[in-house]
Formats: sequence, C-alpha cells, structure tokens
Amino acid sequence: MIPYGKQEIIQQDVDSVISVLQSDFLTQGPQVPAFEKSLTDHTGAEHAIAVNSATSALHIACLALGLSEGDWLWTTPITFVASANCGLYCGARVDFVDIDPKTYNMCAVALEAKLKLAQQNNCLPKVVVPVHLCGQPCDMKAIRGLAEQYGFAIIEDASHAIGGRYEGDPVGNCKYSDITVFSFHPVKIVTTAEGGAALTNSAELAQKMDLLRSHGVTRDESLMTIESHGGWYYQQVELGYNYRMTELQAALGVSQMTRLDDFVEARHRLAKRYNQLLAELPVTLPYQLPGTYSGLHLYVIRLDLDKITKTHREVFDSLRQNGIGVNLHYIPVHTQPYYQEMGFKLGDYPHAEHYYREAISLPMFHLMTEQQQDEVVRVLRHVLEVE
Ligand SMILES: *Cc1c(COP(=O)(O)O)cnc(C)c1O
Repeated sequence: MIPYGKQEIIQQDVDSVISVLQSDFLTQGPQVPAFEKSLTDHTGAEHAIAVNSATSALHIACLALGLSEGDWLWTTPITFVASANCGLYCGARVDFVDIDPKTYNMCAVALEAKLKLAQQNNCLPKVVVPVHLCGQPCDMKAIRGLAEQYGFAIIEDASHAIGGRYEGDPVGNCKYSDITVFSFHPVKIVTTAEGGAALTNSAELAQKMDLLRSHGVTRDESLMTIESHGGWYYQQVELGYNYRMTELQAALGVSQMTRLDDFVEARHRLAKRYNQLLAELPVTLPYQLPGTYSGLHLYVIRLDLDKITKTHREVFDSLRQNGIGVNLHYIPVHTQPYYQEMGFKLGDYPHAEHYYREAISLPMFHLMTEQQQDEVVRVLRHVLEVE
C-alpha cells in the first residue's frame, strides 16, 4: 500500500535521539528550548511553546486568550475535530463557518455575514480558529480585518502548514493572528512522534501558555504572589496541565527542522507533477490562493461525479483495494454524532458537505518516488475508467 503520508527518519534523527537518551535530561532539559528556537528562527515569531500535541497547544492557546464558559469559539467544519474540541475543553460553545468552495478554507465572506448576525444577537465569538487546510494559508488579511472590527482573537491552526508562506512571509509569524499552532504528528510535515507548538508575538500570552503546559506552577519569583519559602519553593498560580514535550521528541524535532525546506520543496515537485498527470481526468485539482505558498501537507482532488460512472465511495474503495492508501480530510465536524447531539444538522454548512461528498486525499509525502506517483495515477485512471 502506498500510504497517504509518511515520515522520513534518517541516521541524523536517530543519533540525535540516542544522544538525549544517554544524556542527563529526558525531560525539562536543553532540547525543548532548542526546538522552540528552531521554530522562532524559521517563522520569525517572538515566542514558541512546545507541547506534547497540537491538541494541547490549541487548548492552552484558548485558555491563555481567556476563553471560558459563556464564550463562543468558531472554526471551520472541514478540519480535524481537535480544532473545535479545544473550545469545549474550556467550557465554551462551538460554532462553524462554512468553507470557500475553491480553497476549502474558512470563507471570509461567510465569516463576515455570520459576524453581522451574531452582533445583532449579542453572541459574537471570543476566538476564531482558521485552519490552513492541506497547508494552504487562509485569507488571513480579511480575517484579521474582521477581528479588529468585531473584537475576536485569532488562533491559526497551522497543523498542515509549517513551511508554507503567506504574502511571502512564513506561516507561524503571527502577523495576522494572536497565536499559531503546529502539529508534529508523523503524518504532518515535520515530526516529533507526537508533539505540537503554540507560537505568539505576545510575551504575556507566551508566559501564560508556558505556565499552563506545566501545572500552572512557577519557580520564577517575579511571578509569585507571596515570598518564596526557600530554595525548594515553587508556586501554583494557575490551574495547568502536564502537556510537556520530552527531550527525545524535541531533539527529533530539532533534527527534522533542518530539512523542513527540502520537505516542502519535494512536496511542491510532486504536486506540480500530479497537476500535469491528472489534468485530463474528471477531477478538480487543488486551487492555490494568490499570494500563498502551501506547506502541502495534503493533495486533495474532488471527483466530478457527473462524469464518472462510479460513486465516490466506490472510487475510494477501489483505490484502497488496488494498493493506493487514499484518505479523506475531513468528515465535516458538525456531522459527527457528538456534535449532532449539540444540535448541528445536516444541511447547516452546504459547501463543506458538498466537498465531503467528492474529496479524496491522494498520497503525498516527500519521500514518494515518481514510480509510486505514476502508480497512483495509473490506478486512478483505471478506476475512473479513463484509459
Ligand atoms: C493533526 C491535526 C490536529 C491535531 O494534532 P495532534 O498533534 O495530533 O494533536 C489539529 N488540527 C489539525 C487541522 C490537524 O490536522
């Protein structure tokens, strides 16, 4: 089976992890700060807080922004459930904004229309989470403009987008957001096995997230509310969690980050080749928003079902049966049973639901060979009966 995504681990990665195993610190040592520095060096953001997953990063990002009971968090229905669940963790309510049918990202026009209504009904969101689906940056200038007008905070879920650019600048610089989150799960662009990070230009948000990832506990006397009892003293000033990244993970991350640009360039070479090889097929190829450079975590096609005799499901199953490890990103979150219990219905977000009936993620990982790619195309042509 040719997988839809796969990590690359080379000897340099293995050596980095082994040297941590043989060092004094398996956690809370020098590797996490080194990994954070590689993230701020790459993006230009002021601060990076590395944690054990992007899900944890989203959670502490919401908490640092003060999201709590009675507040609203809005995101896109076409994302992994974590982009929405982080609001529920904080006791907030979650709502969705439909996607743009071309980019598949949160539609800024639909966002504005929903904000106008919410203003009338006095239920404006406190936090909006745009997701850079497939690695393609959202229309951040438009979303930022709305944030200033309507007074909400922005968390960019850039789990797919490290190495991408918006208007020439690296995704993650937080120029148009309060916080940006990355994921380092093995299917993503760079990996730490499990892991995530939250980046920000605000010293205050960085300090809050730093406390929240480790029990809300500090040894920094300047943050304490009463005087230290002595050398052993630490103080809990917030209710935090244990969301720390280990030294092993961070060392792997440092090593992987040295190859980030190669990873993304290889993905672009493959995407360009897919664009050529699939041009004649009854499918819609990815659209690129002008001014953006995708991280290209995913390569999603949409089936032109009017021109195909098989159903979406039949095409998907035939591809899998023929050794092509396709996937579908994503099942619209509002159609999940858990969210249906909260009152969301089929028909609430028509563009997202339409996308879901046609989308298929083809294999895309930087180690994929041209032969593997040719095999994907050959099988797809066969399944679509274009030969
Ligand atoms: C993978 C992913 C997450 C969650 O990442 P973890 O590191 O596995 O917690 C969140 N949002 C999006 C869009 C993702 O793709």
